[in-house]
Amino acid sequence: MPKQVNPTEIAVIGFGVAGLATATRYQLAEGVKVTMYERNTLAGGIWTSRHPDSIYESAIYDNLSANVPRQLIEYSHWPWPSDEPAFLSSERLSKYMTSYFEVLQLRFRDAFETKFNATVTFVCRTNVGRK
Ligand SMILES: Cc1cc2nc3c(=O)[nH]c(=O)nc-3n(C[C@H](O)[C@H](O)[C@H](O)COP(=O)(O)OP(=O)(O)OC[C@H]3O[C@@H](n4cnc5c(N)ncnc54)[C@H](O)[C@@H]3O)c2cc1C
Repeated sequence: MPKQVNPTEIAVIGFGVAGLATATRYQLAEGVKVTMYERNTLAGGIWTSRHPDSIYESAIYDNLSANVPRQLIEYSHWPWPSDEPAFLSSERLSKYMTSYFEVLQLRFRDAFETKFNATVTFVCRTNVGRK
């Protein structure tokens, strides 16, 4: 059986939907210090890639809406207001991702380090941040 690893500190590469969920899981559940590296200038991954501050080409096109209902794409402790439509526009998702990132930053200020304009080109495992 693989040895259980109980990190005290982790790195998350990319502040998209998955990266923000990973940071939430480790910080909320386990109080782990998280350092996030994002090559772009803002959080949200593809959903914020049309923002004027984004420095990467976007795959989002005009009038794109999510193909799944909003309840399936919300963070459990950051629910959508009940008067939102079921299928959200990419603009609305962009705002949601930005506001969720701000909430995370405020809530976990002391255990959440964020690095923008930080493209990760190499990773390796070390013993730093392990119990
Ligand atoms: C046009 C389009 C429409 C879509 N529509 C839907 C939909 O309706 N419903 C749905 O559920 N999904 C949809 N998707 C899928 C979408 O990819 C996911 O919803 C979700 O955004 C994926 O999140 P992610 O965090 O995995 O990746 P991303 O959102 O791509 O985020 C990855 C992040 O990592 C950063 N990054 C990448 N490499 C590095 C590096 N080396 N160093 C530092 N940072 C790095 C990127 O800049 C980015 O911010 C769609 C995708 C596209 C392209």
